[in-house]
Amino acid sequence: MPALNFQKRFAPLVESGEKRQTIHGGADKMVNLSKKLDRVFSEYIRRRDCVQGTQFGHCITCGRLVPWKYADAGHYIKRQHKATRFDPQNVNLQCKSCNCFEQGANEKYKIAIDWKWGSGTAEKLEQRKRNRTDYRDWWYAEKIKEYQVKIKEMEDA
Ligand SMILES: [Zn+2]
Repeated sequence: MPALNFQKRFAPLVESGEKRQTIHGGADKMVNLSKKLDRVFSEYIRRRDCVQGTQFGHCITCGRLVPWKYADAGHYIKRQHKATRFDPQNVNLQCKSCNCFEQGANEKYKIAIDWKWGSGTAEKLEQRKRNRTDYRDWWYAEKIKEYQVKIKEMEDA
């Protein structure tokens, strides 16, 4: 765990601005891990939302049946909110048209999310979106592993 110790040791210096440069490699690593998790998490969501035994899922907002490979993993609370970015209730299979051209079809999405995950879910996500997050590289690595396992299970099912 040398990376972790490194971060702990230098965190105060980095915060005070004295050590800005040394963390650069670490920041790049985090960005890469975050991108990889985006990819793995998106695949998990799109496969999860397929009609059982098929490669197709219903778009959360328009209901159209689309192959998961050509669908998006659409966020209800937008991706820039880190606290809900990887919340499996906040992200659902969505057709590209709803996700890209209707700005996520947010009003419909709100209704659909409560229908799918229970009433009050949209509200709960709204409240959580600004929560402080402190994701470290190990957190991303763990999540990547977790979702890779879930994908494997779905592939084998
Ligand atoms: Zn749609």
